[in-house]
Parts: sequence; structure tokens; C-alpha cells
Amino acid sequence: MSEQNAVPRHEKVDYMTDTRPIAVDETGPGCKKRDPIVVAENISRSFGGINAVDVEYLEIPRHKITALIGPNGAGKTTLFNLLTGFDTPNSGKWQFEGHNIAGVSSYKLARLGMVRTFQLTKVMGKLTVMENMRLGAADQPGERLSKALFKGIWGGREKEITAQANVLLEKFKLDAKKDDYAASLSGGQRKLLEMARSLMVRPKLVMLDEPMAGVNPALTQSLLDHIKNLKSEGMTVLFVEHDMNMVRHIADWVVVMAEGKIVAEGPPADVMKNPAVIDAYLGAHHDVDLGDAEGIKELEAELEADEESIVGTENAGIIAPEIVVSGLDDKDKK
Ligand code: ATP
Repeated sequence: MSEQNAVPRHEKVDYMTDTRPIAVDETGPGCKKRDPIVVAENISRSFGGINAVDVEYLEIPRHKITALIGPNGAGKTTLFNLLTGFDTPNSGKWQFEGHNIAGVSSYKLARLGMVRTFQLTKVMGKLTVMENMRLGAADQPGERLSKALFKGIWGGREKEITAQANVLLEKFKLDAKKDDYAASLSGGQRKLLEMARSLMVRPKLVMLDEPMAGVNPALTQSLLDHIKNLKSEGMTVLFVEHDMNMVRHIADWVVVMAEGKIVAEGPPADVMKNPAVIDAYLGAHHDVDLGDAEGIKELEAELEADEESIVGTENAGIIAPEIVVSGLDDKDKK
């Protein structure tokens, strides 16, 4: 953390109203942050001939909500996989909370306080909601074979874990379903369960891969509120998302990837006006402001005249002027 802007540990910060600048100097790809929780350098990962990730330098700001955006195939999920120990890079080093974590396995990272959710949820369908929650907890001595037969050793911890799970399930409005199989939940409820389960380790950094994908609109607001709550409780959030409306509303900071590289960084309003971002998403349609409803109407009109465009079809990414750009495909690019 840079000395000048550091807040003394005894001073309580309201993370929701903290308006101190996030970047130390000018914003831009790879810019330094006032208080980074993750620092990554020279991370590369290729599959065959494709450079899926080729990130020179990236810092993720602590106590902020950062959105990682970019067109399909930009390398967002691969970068998530690398940072969280689910994949191994060809090169690179990165730190979490000042610890070098290159090569550290995902379960150890979870214990350090770095957790993630997946684009396609990984809840255990044949376990109940409560059993899924218990699986998310760390430090359960009963999981060791040598101690499993002696309930006296692990029974107390089991009670603590169950109490913590009950609090989280209530918060996420899943308490009525705690004895149901996870397979019986809707897509949105599974996303909520996955998020609630990740909180069982009391993480410092929560990484969400497309939290809104497949979520019924009725649950969207609740998911957004939960993500904002993570920040208000002092956690850092990094999420991948295609829904620009969500990004504009909840992100403090946006990192844009294209073809494996970071092509822009900054506050949402600035980034969405950045020509490099518009180019990455829309190719030639670069005179449009992604954060502005008028701009989107203009874009829709322009694309309607374009034979290859998907606007107006069932696959259209742009669904309403107030919902800015959602799920653009490679097909959207000209
Ligand atoms: P989306 O928004 O569609 O999820 P993304 O930005 O998350 O895309 P990645 O899934 O990280 O992109 O993919 C980056 C590139 O790496 C793509 O070209 C993809 O085809 C390729 N890729 C990713 N994983 C693999 C893999 N396991 N094997 C081969 N190629 C892969």
C-alpha cells in the first residue's frame, strides 16, 4: 500500500462512501492502485497457437468492486482460472495480500481468503443446500480420517459451521430451502448458494465469474444487492460480466481485456467512452458511448441496416435502451 494514502488501521472506513482515488496516478492499462489486494505480472497462458492470456501488469484495488469485461474469448475466465489456482500459466507471478501465490492450489487460496464462483455453477446437486454450505467451511477436523470417528473432537466446530451457514442462508433468502437438494434450486438460486457457500471461509477477495448469467430477472436485484453488501462488509469483489448495465451500476473500477491483453482500465463511465473499448466490443462501430442510452439507440439504428447484425433477433445483445449492452458475441463485431 502506498504510504501517502494509507488509512491508519484504527480508523474505520465506510467502504461504500470512500471516494479516494483508486489509481495512484493516471488511469490506464496496468496502472498502479493506491491499495492493491492482487498484483499480477507477466501472466501468459496459451492453448496451442492461441495466446489466451498475455497480461503484462495488473493490480486489483482492495475494498472495491472491479468488473473484468471484454468480448467473448478475450481471456477473462482463463485469467480467473490462473489467478485462483485452477490453471497453470506458461509464465508469470502474482501476489495476494503481499503473498506470492503462483502455483498455490485453489483450496489453499480459499483458506488465505481468495474465493471464486463459476460461470456454470458448481453446487453439488445431490447434496442438500445445508450440506453444500458445510462443504464450503474451512478448519473442520472431522474431515481427517484419524479424527472422524471421535465426534467429541469435531462436534463443536460442526455446530459453529452450521450456525454460520444458517446466518448466510437467511441473508441469501435460502433458509427455507436448506434441507432441499441443491439440484431442485433455480439457476439464480444456485448462483446465490454458490456465493453464500464461498463466504463460509470469510474471504477477503470474492471473484465471481458471470454472476448474472442465467439468472431470472426477479433475482437480479437481489444478486446486485448481495454483491454491494460484500463491499460494505469490507470484502473486495472482482467479477466477470457481459451485462454493461450491471457493470455501470455496481463497479467502482473496470478492467477491459481483448485478445488476452488488458486494453483499458478506469472508472466505468470513462472506460465505456474509451475508443479502445468500443473497438474491442464493436469493431467499426466506434463512435458510440456504451454507457449512454442515446448512444445505444444510435448503435441499434446503425446495426439494423447491417445484414450481419443480430439486433432485433432473439440473440440480440441489446435488449432495451436502459439495459445497455448485454452478452455481445463475436458475431457482433464487424
Ligand atoms: P467468454 O466471455 O466467452 O466466457 P472469455 O473472455 O472468458 O470468454 P476465455 O474462456 O478465457 O475467454 O478464452 C480465451 C481463449 O482461450 C479463447 O480463444 C478460448 O477458445 C481459449 N481457451 C480457453 N480455454 C481453453 C482450453 N481449455 N483449451 C483450448 N482453448 C481454450
